[in-house]
Formats: sequence, C-alpha cells, structure tokens
Amino acid sequence: MICGKTIDEFLSEIMRFHGFKAPGIVLGGIMVDYCQELIGAGVEADAIVESIHCLPDAVQLFTPCTVGNGWLKVLDWDKYALSLYNRKTVLGFRIWVDTEKTKSYPDLYNWYMRLVPKKELSSERVINAIFTAERNVLSYQAIQITQHSDRHKKGETGICSSCGEAYSLKQGTSCLSCQGHCYYIKNPN
Ligand SMILES: [Zn+2]
Repeated sequence: MICGKTIDEFLSEIMRFHGFKAPGIVLGGIMVDYCQELIGAGVEADAIVESIHCLPDAVQLFTPCTVGNGWLKVLDWDKYALSLYNRKTVLGFRIWVDTEKTKSYPDLYNWYMRLVPKKELSSERVINAIFTAERNVLSYQAIQITQHSDRHKKGETGICSSCGEAYSLKQGTSCLSCQGHCYYIKNPN
C-alpha cells in the first residue's frame, strides 16, 4: 500500500491526474507516504516542495494540500525534496532523494541524474527500480519551518483605474498588468 492505495490504484490515479505514469510522481508518492507516516496520522500538515517538476502533483494527489488552497508551497529549486509540517507547531519532516543511496539501483540512479537519454531507459524500467528501491533511496530529517509557513491572505480588492478589472490593492494604484508586467498582446491577426 502507498498513501492508502494499492499499487494499481496508486498508478491509475497518477495517470488520471498527471496524464501519464511519470516516474517522478511514483517516487514523489512514496516520499509523501513516508513523510505522512513520520508526521503521524491526524496531523493537519502543510507542505513545501523544492521542485516544480512532478513533486507538486504527488503532494496534490496524495495529501489535502494544493497550490490553490494555499497549503502547498512550491520552490523552484530543482531539488527532489519535500517537507510536511504541522501547521500549528511548524514542526515536521523533510524527505529527500539521497543520491548516494540511489547508486545501488542503476536504472533509478541513471534516470535521477539524467545520465541516460529517455529513449534508452523506459519509464517502466525506472518505475520498476523505484518500486524495488522504495524508501531505501530516501533520507529524512526532523525540522522546524522558519519560512514560507505563512498562509497568503487575500488583500483588499479594488478596481484598476486603467483596465477596469478587479485586482489586489497591494499592487498599487493600477494592476501589475497595467504597470508593464502584461504577458500578452492582442492577437495581431
Ligand atoms: Zn489594470
């Protein structure tokens, strides 16, 4: 069982949510499972992940934490690590993929370190290696969160004087888009 699911359920939920059986989410799910066990059942835990790849989906699939509800923070550090912590005490655990330990599982190591091109190392093989290794490639540490534990509150809302759309007044007298941060132009055709 992983995250309270059979392996088949676990894999089919990954398919449904992520679109394909990504080894990164399989590994991420095992990390979440381990971290939940360490922190204990019944603890309302918030999450921080240290990669924008796969790990956010593993947390969103197998915990109540999502980007949208604000309980999951995503750091773009490209590190395969995640933390779950008690949102009241800010105490919790950080789990990471321990590269040294992955060396005992060549397919996993080669995938993780991006040493072999994808077409020469099928995701089935990587997933098999992940299930063989399970927690043996992970390390963890008990931690106290010092940053990012604040829940982002929505600011006061106003109407932008330039575009007329509602926006957070924290941005200033006009919205960020009208201040020059707009990411699009009108379709020129
Ligand atoms: Zn505006």
